[in-house]
Amino acid sequence: MLDLLLPQRCVVCGSGGRQLCSGCREELPRIEPPLCARCGAPTAWLVERCRECAGRRLGFATARAAVGYDERVRRLVHAWKERGLRRLAVEVAALVVERVPPPEVDAVTFVPSDPARRLKRGHNPAERLARELAAAWKLPCLPLLERTRGGRQRGSSATERRSVRGAFRATATAPRTVVVIDDVYTTGATAAATATALRASGARRVEAITFARALRRS
Ligand SMILES: [Zn+2]
Ligand SMILES: [Zn+2]
Repeated sequence: MLDLLLPQRCVVCGSGGRQLCSGCREELPRIEPPLCARCGAPTAWLVERCRECAGRRLGFATARAAVGYDERVRRLVHAWKERGLRRLAVEVAALVVERVPPPEVDAVTFVPSDPARRLKRGHNPAERLARELAAAWKLPCLPLLERTRGGRQRGSSATERRSVRGAFRATATAPRTVVVIDDVYTTGATAAATATALRASGARRVEAITFARALRRS
């Protein structure tokens, strides 16, 4: 792996030493309760539904994340995903294990990458994270999903919602309860679409866990 041979620099602040220095690791914006019980958005007090998820059909029962998506987290996620610093998956998984209670589910699965991106990157970051987390939680990690069409579009929230609807299908019968892993929760549309596909394939309850989560300014 290439990243073993390169001089180590913190991907967030650039200081020498480690890919994620202890100062930056310490300062990543952890998501703190109280949270919306359903979508995991930080809220003023514990609520069953929040402004962000009320009235939406989401498919998943709960969504949780370790950190809020800010500039530091953006740099970390970028280095992990695009620069192929795969060992960052270990750091990222450790942060999830530290912040998110283990899901009470039968198996772990992950959002599949579209073939073009996978070819470019040579790895699926969500799968790497899922495998690390499954090992930590002592759960099986099963590839259960595929994309029905290519082209995961980046852009506005509305674009994400449109582009992922019906974009996934299950490739095998899903266990009764599953957690689906992804890198970043933006609008919840990807988590919702994968949860819907897993439920269509037999899952009764789907949880979603991501490393980071976009936070709305309140
Ligand atoms: Zn740093
Ligand atoms: Zn909510």
